[in-house]
Amino acid sequence: MNRNVDDVYGDDVAQFLDQETIPMFINGKWVSPEGANTIDVINPSNAEKIGQIYAGGSKQVDQACEAAHKAFETSGWATMPVVERSAILNRLADLIDDNAAVLGKLESLDVGKPVAAVIEGEIPFSGQAFRFFAKVMLDYDKYSTPLVAENIEAHYVRSPYGVCGFIFPWNFPFLLLAWGASAALAAGNTIVVKPAELTSLSTLYFCKLAKEAGIPDGVVNVITGPGAEVGMPIAEHPLVRRMAFTGSPEVGRKIASTCARNLIPVKLELGGKGAAIIFDDVDVKSAAASLAEIITSNTGQVCCTASRWLVHQNIYDEFSQEVSLILNNTVIGNSSDANTKMGPVVSEVQRQRILDYQKKGLAQNATALVEGHIVEPEGSEKGFYVTPSLLQGSADNICFKEEIFGPSAYMMSFSDEEEAINLVNSSDYGLANSIWTLDLERARRVAEKMVVGNCWINAHNVFAYGLPYGGVNLSGMGGGVNSVETFEDYLRGQTVARPL
Ligand code: NAD
Repeated sequence: MNRNVDDVYGDDVAQFLDQETIPMFINGKWVSPEGANTIDVINPSNAEKIGQIYAGGSKQVDQACEAAHKAFETSGWATMPVVERSAILNRLADLIDDNAAVLGKLESLDVGKPVAAVIEGEIPFSGQAFRFFAKVMLDYDKYSTPLVAENIEAHYVRSPYGVCGFIFPWNFPFLLLAWGASAALAAGNTIVVKPAELTSLSTLYFCKLAKEAGIPDGVVNVITGPGAEVGMPIAEHPLVRRMAFTGSPEVGRKIASTCARNLIPVKLELGGKGAAIIFDDVDVKSAAASLAEIITSNTGQVCCTASRWLVHQNIYDEFSQEVSLILNNTVIGNSSDANTKMGPVVSEVQRQRILDYQKKGLAQNATALVEGHIVEPEGSEKGFYVTPSLLQGSADNICFKEEIFGPSAYMMSFSDEEEAINLVNSSDYGLANSIWTLDLERARRVAEKMVVGNCWINAHNVFAYGLPYGGVNLSGMGGGVNSVETFEDYLRGQTVARPL
């Protein structure tokens, strides 16, 4: 196989990728379906094939759902003492930490993320999700609450649903898996997961760790393959009792329609077109550095990034000069290179999408403060690299309105608070915005006027376990992730009552 990773990435990663085709994981076993098609795994940093996975289909989805159902009924996962299940999830979190280097390297190879940051940041943070829900479940008062009603003795009991289906996108494969699976598993459910076909490696490696941690066979199942062939059969499957989808609004609608037909509750975590409002009392240099960092992080492929920058007219010129300078100097390179600040985008399709948006934006009379273009870093010329871009123009521009999903920002000036709020709320998306000002009273006032799931102050991408994270309108529905409420979402409620 044309691979050049062994030296850079070490034995464990090479061994995992050395399998002729990396199998799927069903009922605690690695499964290689006979005659199934395969999908090439491409390293976006150099466009080389580094492995292959199976393109599964409804037959494997059936097997996985049957296994997950059986495990829910008979493996003891749902009924084991909470302390035991919690201990297993803590063990899994430890294993994620112990294997951070392998997981991070796989993620970096698969998605194009700078390797050190993913090993030190995303992977350990993913492990913490399991620790968080392992604690939440212990504190949860045995899932049962007394109810107060006159002349009736009653209580409300919460039980796991059974099989939960998950479909994930390619931008944060392991982190999103952890956010979803941790809550569902802590609540006692079993899961069937479909990772994105572009980036399935870390999710498959997770199965090895789940088994090692002592999660019973059948509780965790992973089927790889395309959306329509694997994702939809999961959403449609009669044994699935709860669905969670993370991805684009277009596909989210299809999943939601299917779940509505089957009357299955669904969580949707969808796209975004986040805004940052920058008032004129900020330190301009430092705000410019922060916004440049935000739009180039994960090469802009972040659902909650700030891609609409509303800058107060008094500092607009100074801010645009500062930020353009920083964006123009972004160090772009191979994800395995320690100096790389921004890696490639995930695929050629994604690179073309980004450049097409820029073309359309310019055709609609935007001007480019920084124009994005293809770049070929030395030694990695074939990778999917694109430079950051910053356009400015009016609010009816396609680049102000639609999610691009790349290192592409759009800037406008504003003169007063009301104008900024109206511009921000003109979007159909509602995932995450931020406000940058020294006046904290103003920050809170503006934050609360935003139609959005998350609003951050003097920072962007503020994540911590315990803080609910979810979107409204085109950005999603169904409760979000990462909080005690998420844990409750994976439990069905039941009232038990006796007249006195
Ligand atoms: P996508 O919607 O194209 O794909 C997401 C997943 O759905 C993939 O696994 C894909 O194979 C599957 N899929 C595609 N078509 C399907 C179908 N017909 N039936 C069933 N499954 C199908 O999204 P993407 O391009 O992978 O990811 C980018 C999108 O994800 C962006 O809009 C981004 O903002 C969003 N996102 C949201 C969050 C969040 O937390 N809100 C997090 C990450 C990404």
